[in-house]
Amino acid sequence: MTVVRTPLVVGNWKMNGSFEANRLLLESLLGLLAQKRLPEVGVCPPFPYLPQVGALLAETPVGWGAQTVSEHRVGAYTGQVSASMLKDLGCRYVIVGHSERRQFCGETDETVASQALTTLDSGLMPIVCVGESAEEEAAGKTLAIIDRQLAPVLLALAGVADEGASVVVAYEPVWAIGTGKTPTPEGVQAVHAHIRQALLQAGLVQTRILYGGSVKASNAETLFALPDVDGGLIGGAALNAVEFSTICTAAANRLV
Ligand code: PEP
Repeated sequence: MTVVRTPLVVGNWKMNGSFEANRLLLESLLGLLAQKRLPEVGVCPPFPYLPQVGALLAETPVGWGAQTVSEHRVGAYTGQVSASMLKDLGCRYVIVGHSERRQFCGETDETVASQALTTLDSGLMPIVCVGESAEEEAAGKTLAIIDRQLAPVLLALAGVADEGASVVVAYEPVWAIGTGKTPTPEGVQAVHAHIRQALLQAGLVQTRILYGGSVKASNAETLFALPDVDGGLIGGAALNAVEFSTICTAAANRLV
């Protein structure tokens, strides 16, 4: 079987936006992407803007999704949003386990695994974030941390019918998020190759591995040329239409 992993670029807007700013950003982005050879592209705005973003992106090549989801399916979980609700809205993606959720909202490796599973079961694509802190990196623990974070996810997803095509993993070193720092290309490739091995062993041959952490128009081409980098999860630069569109077109170079 030939394995084709279509490159993917997803923008994580975090807690940014307004009706006006979202409209201006997406109109500008769609204009810049028009007539371009594109990878798969998505944006993840805050919950309240999902319907607006969905309407603005209807009939366009850009998909959309949420930044998190409840690990529970239904019930007495005030303030939480289930994967089936996100499916009802028309989402395609759900980011789970972003380091800001792990840090500020107490999400654990096990919570993240449950979120990934409920997302997948609802017919949506989980983008599972993993990555080490600065201290862990300095202590040489990067691969051990990734293994620890991935283990419950791989267990939960065992037996995924489409060999992982509907699952995405994003490697995001915490120390690279929003800091302007990135690992060396060799460092990124080494971690991605390690993740690839773990995915292959779990039968997830089609799963794409994104790199996230200070991706910009100026470094996207180098990062996306690495053999095991299937695209990017983009924070700050996703709020700038010119930067984000340039990052998207850099990932299109991986199209076969
Ligand atoms: C992120 O928050 O997922 C991220 C990668 O942020 P930034 O691109 O701003 O580093």
